[in-house]
Amino acid sequence: MISSSDELTTYGLAIGGEQRPATGGATYEALNPFTGQAWARAPEAGREDVDRAVGAARGALDGPWGAMTGADRAACMRRLAIVLAEEAEHLAAVETRGNGKLLRETLGQAKALADYYNYFAGMADKLEGASIPSHKPGYFLYTRREPVGVVGAIMAWNSPLMLLTWKLAPALAAGCTVVAKPSPYTPISTLEFARCVERAGFPPGVFNVVTGVAPELGQWLVSHPGVDKVTFTGSTQTGIAVGKAAMDNMTRVALELGGKSAQLVFPDADLDAAATGIVAGVFAATGQTCVAGSRLLVHRDVHDEVVDRLVTMATAIKLGDPMAPDSEMGPLANAAQLEKVSGLMDRARAEGATVAHGACVSASLGGLFYEPTILTDVGPDMEIAREEVFGPVLSVLAFDTEDDAVALANRSEFGLAAGVWTESVRRAHRVAHRLQAGSVWVNTYRMVAPNAPFGGFKMSGIGRENGHEAVYEFTETKTVWVALDDAQARDPFALG
Ligand code: NAD
Repeated sequence: MISSSDELTTYGLAIGGEQRPATGGATYEALNPFTGQAWARAPEAGREDVDRAVGAARGALDGPWGAMTGADRAACMRRLAIVLAEEAEHLAAVETRGNGKLLRETLGQAKALADYYNYFAGMADKLEGASIPSHKPGYFLYTRREPVGVVGAIMAWNSPLMLLTWKLAPALAAGCTVVAKPSPYTPISTLEFARCVERAGFPPGVFNVVTGVAPELGQWLVSHPGVDKVTFTGSTQTGIAVGKAAMDNMTRVALELGGKSAQLVFPDADLDAAATGIVAGVFAATGQTCVAGSRLLVHRDVHDEVVDRLVTMATAIKLGDPMAPDSEMGPLANAAQLEKVSGLMDRARAEGATVAHGACVSASLGGLFYEPTILTDVGPDMEIAREEVFGPVLSVLAFDTEDDAVALANRSEFGLAAGVWTESVRRAHRVAHRLQAGSVWVNTYRMVAPNAPFGGFKMSGIGRENGHEAVYEFTETKTVWVALDDAQARDPFALG
């Protein structure tokens, strides 16, 4: 923060360990989706600021950070984990002000951040290469894992600090430096996070933040020649543009994109558990999660019973102030999101879907509050069954056989996640293996952890976050050949 008046606190960009205004001095208002009011001012970065941030990241990489051992980097990361644990309540409140998600959700996420830095700190001094027995006599052959370099990290608005952490923690462990660009809707939490990084004593420039509403801001970062890798979380449409732009410079790219995840309910399922899991999957976070289980595929024998239970549960969901401990669904995060959800709903009705519950702005709360919505009579080719909603909308489709269920689940361009509800252990594994999804949850839903790889099949992305292999996404493998003999008798015109 660089200034605070009676009105709004104005934040600076975080570049090279300092908070400073954007070069042009411009700022913009960050809105609170619940109140509809501006609650802080964020800096509007220009191209020069992106240059500065990338320059600061390069300076740290070529300087003090690059000179550190893995054990030294791990020590910085563990200090950051301690700071984040101390600041969890503050960061959660900032997140909720920024994106309207329930405090009980953002607090859970903020408290978990430290676990990710501790987990990946444990990897920082274990990035071993291999000593490879040479096929040719007289050579010592080995590999090194080197940091990929300066990383541009671009995030969506729905879980800014968790999405950032899934990138930053392994990048730091690998020895990279980072320029982060949060969503224009949620700039403040990432700027507050940068203060935690400062407090933890990282060398200046290891972590930098640029914010702004200009649509070009992300493009400048992705196409910057000083950026070696882009790691992106957002919609599939934007991810495709990011991937194409990155290829112009052969910048490495990882993409965490959208989803249309299926929850499969078999007739032998524990229907109470399944109903709870389905509600958690699509109405938690007001459906604004990439893994929202927005397609319910339910066996015809239990279809009506499951729908009845879900309607009863949806009717009881308490919409309200996201800061209040008893609220169960907050508002949608912004007006554009509300418009998108409403438009999809109009077209779903026109295509023949039946509204079993919801499908409207909340009558009592208005604003950006949208009722938890359940649609039946949904056909697999309807737009609502194919497109990501990113809101509290469940489409229900019936199936007759296990093969039908798997075929319906896989009949999607996306492949982020899926849920399987059955009491049969054989069916559980059989179906889990056949589903085209990066994460499959059996008799549970929406579980993530530092050591569990996460990412998408098909149009849901490229690459994996979390799990120890995530660190390797931020390294380049270098192969070193060393001739051991003084004189190598070899034909100079033939491949070694
Ligand atoms: P979005 O694609 O509109 O924006 C994501 C980020 O990209 C923002 O920071 C935005 O400013 C930036 N951006 C926009 N255009 C860009 C460009 N041309 N070049 C570079 N950056 C650009 O997505 P959103 O609306 O912020 O987020 C919702 C989407 O994110 C949903 O599709 C959701 O499924 C997805 N998401 C995926 C995951 C995952 O892990 N797979 C997690 C959370 C959200």
